[in-house]
Amino acid sequence: MSMPTDAENKWIDSLIKQDEIDRYLNNGKDFIDEQLIWNQLEKQKNPSDSYIREIIAKSLELERLNPVETAALLNCRNDELWEEIFRAGLSIKRKVYGRRIVFFAPLYISNYCVNNCAYCAFRRENTAVTRTCLSDDQIRAEVRALTAEGHKRLIMVYGEHPTTGADFIAHTLKVVYETKHSGDEIRRANINAAPLPIADLKKLSEVGIGTYQVFQETYHPATYRSLHPADTLKGNMRWRLYALHRAMEAGVDDVGIGALFGLVDYRFEVMSLLLHTIDLEEKFGGVGPHTISFPRLEPALNTPFVENPEHLIDDESFRKLVGVIRLSVPYTGMILTAREPQSVRNSIISIGVTQLDAGSNIGIGCYATGKTGGDRQQFELADNRTLEEVISYLVDLGMITSFCTAGYRCGRTGHYFMDIAKSGKVHTLCMPNAILTFAEYLDDYASEQTKEKGWILLEEELRRLPGEDLRIRVSELLERVRNGERDLYL
Ligand code: SAM
Ligand code: SF4
Repeated sequence: MSMPTDAENKWIDSLIKQDEIDRYLNNGKDFIDEQLIWNQLEKQKNPSDSYIREIIAKSLELERLNPVETAALLNCRNDELWEEIFRAGLSIKRKVYGRRIVFFAPLYISNYCVNNCAYCAFRRENTAVTRTCLSDDQIRAEVRALTAEGHKRLIMVYGEHPTTGADFIAHTLKVVYETKHSGDEIRRANINAAPLPIADLKKLSEVGIGTYQVFQETYHPATYRSLHPADTLKGNMRWRLYALHRAMEAGVDDVGIGALFGLVDYRFEVMSLLLHTIDLEEKFGGVGPHTISFPRLEPALNTPFVENPEHLIDDESFRKLVGVIRLSVPYTGMILTAREPQSVRNSIISIGVTQLDAGSNIGIGCYATGKTGGDRQQFELADNRTLEEVISYLVDLGMITSFCTAGYRCGRTGHYFMDIAKSGKVHTLCMPNAILTFAEYLDDYASEQTKEKGWILLEEELRRLPGEDLRIRVSELLERVRNGERDLYL
């Protein structure tokens, strides 16, 4: 894995289509205007308490904030107001998503990579990592190990390499969907992969991907340049910046954005995530990202950059930035991964997170072997609780686990999903489906202890559903689940 081969160089040159960047520019300019962002942050450096409260009130009405309001929140220095922001985050989440958390598991497929991102153990020059690309049989073994724990949703992750391009990704998705074992199955596979051209994205759309995630890493141009060498594919910042615009155009209308926090001032990244959301909404008829991710930089094997990064984010700032994202984009899903330690996850779940992973092992091929990630993983995870342990913890907090995958299988993505989320209709669709999938989990996979308290909570949620008709309908479906039927949804 030293210098790119001729074949790799040829592939790299063929991938980037300049017109699939240029068509999304605003009069030749990006949606990120660095100077404007700094100016807005500077202008709002001392927001009044009353202005902050006005912003909180707007967000509680489920209205997306504008960049000036977001800049003001980011500069709030009043601890009492921060508590109000956190409380508002929870209340927004309850309004839009209810008392449920969606669960998924990461499944790393390949760590071959042509890029050289300074923070990542998979960067091409890192010889300390064992390179692996799972065979079909190994993928099946991983899926069996995951579904045996109760997982129904995956995020499949790939390095960027000619041998693992769109055709390979589409093939692996098929292998995952076809792996079924006495009721255990993956019903939704999201992917986190490199930016692709529109024609390739159409191939993924045809196989039925869930969410397509691409993290920008950093939206700050100079920082981006310093971490992603110019002579690599990822060195082309604009190709990445418009990856999800291309996805929307290709018909993949369920996209996830994210920034890798710890590379630059976090306030710049939060402002940029909002601008990314706004640009997608403006260009695609009001449909923005389905999810926002906010991974923090973690230690990685033989990766000196992550040992002492200049912009490391302390836990308190991390909590604040999550709170601001929640208020800025009230109807977008928010993903908190097992990169974070248990204590941080526990303190952040209640301010508006909608998706978690658990029981994760990001060593390639390691679910089936049961080994720890070691030299096969991209970075280190900090929350090593099992799926059952996290679910049980959430039950104690009064939150039910959802493995619902009805949305994308019923075409409730893009416009349709945004309408549901913005109008708060989630309670009549997603909450019943959460109840039904939680019932499956409790019956098929949970320990006796979790089962007992889980069913009590589930009955409470059933009583909370709006309208007698809906409650009767869901009770009937629930009875069928108890009698062994599976995959029932509204
Ligand atoms: N290779 C593809 C790419 O870069 O777009 C797929 C994604 S990569 C395998 C998954 C994500 O992991 C990256 O987008 C990055 O945000 C994150 N990541 C990389 N190194 C990390 C580290 N040291 N700590 C935490 N997250 C990291
Ligand atoms: Fe490759 Fe992605 Fe790691 Fe960069 S972050 S080195 S592109 S796997």
